[in-house]
Amino acid sequence: NGLKKYFPIKSGLLSRTVGSVKAVDDISFSIKQGETFGLVGESGSGKSTVGRTILRLTDKTDGEVKFKGVDLYNLPPQELRRLRPKMQLIFQDPYSSLNPRVRIGDAIGEALLDHGLAPREEIRDRVMEVLAACGLSSYHIDRFPHEFSGGQRQRVGIARALVLNPDLIIADEPVSALDVSIQAQIINLFRKMQDTQGLTYLFISHDLSVVEHLCSHIGVMYLGSMMETASRDELFRNPLHPYTKALLSAVPIPIPKLKRERIVLSGELPNPADPPSGCKFHTRCPFAVARCREEVPQFRNVGGDHGVACHLV
Ligand code: SF4
Ligand code: MG
Repeated sequence: NGLKKYFPIKSGLLSRTVGSVKAVDDISFSIKQGETFGLVGESGSGKSTVGRTILRLTDKTDGEVKFKGVDLYNLPPQELRRLRPKMQLIFQDPYSSLNPRVRIGDAIGEALLDHGLAPREEIRDRVMEVLAACGLSSYHIDRFPHEFSGGQRQRVGIARALVLNPDLIIADEPVSALDVSIQAQIINLFRKMQDTQGLTYLFISHDLSVVEHLCSHIGVMYLGSMMETASRDELFRNPLHPYTKALLSAVPIPIPKLKRERIVLSGELPNPADPPSGCKFHTRCPFAVARCREEVPQFRNVGGDHGVACHLV
């Protein structure tokens, strides 16, 4: 709710603060239990920072983060520690977070031990169980990270999150580094996990076609701001924000008669440290009018759970 995360820009010998990057600039959204919310935008739009700020891996600048009604930034440390296992992060490349000298089974089991969630003698069984659920086998339990393919490593990443029996999983570009054929397998695994464990996902991706297959709701970010949120069906059928339309027009559609306006974005993403005035999208928006340069469009609900920030809507 009103989440902000600003990073100071330092300069000179004395590291004076000369400005800030508004990586997350006053965004609000909610995810219902059991839902998958897809957070979409180009790289540099602030999606990952949203995920990390929710999990308190980095501190917020302002705003509120609530998990099951509990304000995560207003919790005594031991309460936060108790909730930690319930909220797990899955990375784009789990390899970077795996110790190359630790066997996969130990890496997964460690988390259980650290959180005191299972007695030592039960850990191997729990690890086996979760590896099997992720499509790996007992063969893999004593292997080292380098012995795994990209897709298998992502299965390990998912297993390591799942073993803690979480309620919320924040997955940050979890399939972006994988071949398309493997992407589908991993997305199916995410879906299966949701069905069997009732998980809630925040699924971060730059790729709308990936999000389309998994998410019930979608939020579109641009330079730290939320431009549009809607249910998946509504967003794909009736996108309102020019940026969403541009992203969608790049997604191939199987039904040719469902013609979409083709909008090709010109130019690069502006420097987040020096974003355009007014509507941050105005430098690339084909529909921009004079007002767009001066006035920041407010995010408004336009019916149902469809919200948008654009002067022309
Ligand atoms: Fe385009 Fe103006 Fe709408 Fe921004 S407010 S998306 S610049 S039309
Ligand atoms: Mg990112």
